[in-house]
Amino acid sequence: MNRGECVTSMLTEDDVRRIVREEIGQASRQSVGEIRLGPGPNTQPTPEELNRLRDDLIAHIKLHVTPPSPVRHTTDPTDPRLGRGSDETPRPQNEVYLVLSETERAKGYLRPVRGSYRHETCGTTTTMGAAIAETYARDPWHYGSTYCVECQKHRPLTEFRWIGQRGEFQEMMSPSEWPPEILDAVVARRKDLES
Ligand SMILES: [Zn+2]
Repeated sequence: MNRGECVTSMLTEDDVRRIVREEIGQASRQSVGEIRLGPGPNTQPTPEELNRLRDDLIAHIKLHVTPPSPVRHTTDPTDPRLGRGSDETPRPQNEVYLVLSETERAKGYLRPVRGSYRHETCGTTTTMGAAIAETYARDPWHYGSTYCVECQKHRPLTEFRWIGQRGEFQEMMSPSEWPPEILDAVVARRKDLES
């Protein structure tokens, strides 16, 4: 047999080298796909990769596309956009919530400013805006009900508990549920601030 010839097919040595290169390339691409070293030209995305892409997309939409919260505040108790009481059926948040003016809030808080609370009925934590949180801290009797994002209802404060900065459970939101030591301290502080 002469050098450069293949007995069975009479291919040149260059032909064989080319075919071997192509076969090796094909095999290596397949093995890369099989062991999932990463997305190659011939691989389909895995379910995990699709899930990650979906989560990335949702996070991007929340960050850049979702409009700012429509919740607004008013200091006018007669504002006709205000909602009243609690809900028996799911509904969106009110368009407007009543808050104390910044001047009134600046007179001193009776309780710490906290932004998160847990609905004891469903176990879900909801976060409120600063103006509402400060209004509650200034006057814990100001609100009779608050909103749960899971139940999508305003429910009486007696169903909610404050969550602290480190996620710890704190006292119930409704002063009617407080232990005497908290109630006594708040009443005493209110007297101090008024005098
Ligand atoms: Zn709930």
